[in-house]
Amino acid sequence: ESSIVVHLRVAPLGDEYILVLAEDRTEFSRTEAVRNDFVANVSHELKTPVGAISLLTETIEDAADDEVAIRRFAQRLQLESVRLAALVQDIIELSRVQGKNVVHAGLPVDLDEVISEAVDRSRLPAEAKDITIRVGGSLPRWVHGDHDQLTMAFRNLIDNAVRYSPEGTRVGVGLSSRDGIAQVTITDQGIGISPEDQERIFERFYRVDAARSRQTGGTGLGLSIVKHVITNHGGEVSLWSQQGKGSTFTVRIPELEEGQEPGEPEDGAP
Ligand code: ADP
Repeated sequence: ESSIVVHLRVAPLGDEYILVLAEDRTEFSRTEAVRNDFVANVSHELKTPVGAISLLTETIEDAADDEVAIRRFAQRLQLESVRLAALVQDIIELSRVQGKNVVHAGLPVDLDEVISEAVDRSRLPAEAKDITIRVGGSLPRWVHGDHDQLTMAFRNLIDNAVRYSPEGTRVGVGLSSRDGIAQVTITDQGIGISPEDQERIFERFYRVDAARSRQTGGTGLGLSIVKHVITNHGGEVSLWSQQGKGSTFTVRIPELEEGQEPGEPEDGAP
């Protein structure tokens, strides 16, 4: 929808005339609408844990000296606080990475290093589900950008692969390069994503199964963060998935040109 604002001005002095100005505010209204949407969504998402926390606090107060009940409610209180903290953390991360192109401002980043770091940080949840993470084809692959943003993005993808897979399965992370583009694939043997959902999962707060996502500590923001980070690096992220079989997320980022890579770490590389 377009939005045109018309201003009418009548000149107060001299010859009478009317000035008509038409201003195209379409783009402004669109950005404004997206922003309002986001605020509405955030408020809605925050209400759930905040509501639960205040209810649980009241219940604990009312539990008098029923120690068993108090302990049980206290545990749930802790769980809700952890959820709230994760949500706030992701909201902050998302606002930090939205629309921040780092291709020119960024530093050379070794993708191989970024991936090992991301894999290391996902080890605990993976071990808890007896899931093996295999990294293949690693080589230094230099891209221009922000080391921390990229680590966060790959960590989100690997965490999801673990979160939406049954126990005892495998997650594969592959790094390769073709025509100056670094390609990273994250493959799981998990529940998969239907074609209709594939179109929407990169939207903020979109989840296929809200209860399941909540239960496993998801916030619904992970993939939007991923998408922004990869776009910030001049790259793209795509998805192949089959329900009940698994999913593969593919990230492609332009590599540094020949001769732009830093030398050995002593030469000042990160
Ligand atoms: P969440 O915090 O809920 O995981 P994301 O933005 O990371 O939010 O993902 C959005 C939704 O996409 C998830 O709720 C889940 O339904 C689906 N999804 C993401 N990654 C996978 C995956 N590897 N396998 C199956 N479903 C996935």
